[in-house]
Amino acid sequence: MKDTNCIFCKIAAGEIPSRTIYEDEQFRVIMDISPATKGHALILPKEHYANLYEIPEEVAADAMKLAKKMASEMTQRLECDGFNLAQNNGEAAGQTVFHFHMHLLPRYKEDGNQEKFAWNHLELSEDEVEEIYQKLTK
Ligand code: AMP
Ligand code: ZN
Repeated sequence: MKDTNCIFCKIAAGEIPSRTIYEDEQFRVIMDISPATKGHALILPKEHYANLYEIPEEVAADAMKLAKKMASEMTQRLECDGFNLAQNNGEAAGQTVFHFHMHLLPRYKEDGNQEKFAWNHLELSEDEVEEIYQKLTK
């Protein structure tokens, strides 16, 4: 299913032009319009799923297989020093386009993003950690 108001549906379908670096029946991989690093790209499924909660397991698995293939190929071509995969779900997690996508982020020793890609570590009490553990396991 496609969502007629969704920009990534239109890009994935080829209705809006994009710099496509890979395409098959299920996915299109495009260069991000506002790249965080040189070569930042996005894996878009051609079907509309808002996020990880909605995407079928098999499509998610295929997206990860493609991410692995893309990471290897992009690393070779761009001669980057490392690679991040990122995938945001919900506004609280930084999602701005509500069509599932996976970020492919080639990383370079001096790419100016070292701090941005790290997160702050919380200082939680033993009780707080235990409460979370209980929620996750009981
Ligand atoms: P997220 O914050 O995970 O939802 O990521 C959305 C990403 O899509 C951002 O990195 C944007 O720069 C990128 N983006 C938004 N519109 C376009 C577009 N028309 N073509 C390519 N990338 C886009
Ligand atoms: Zn869509």
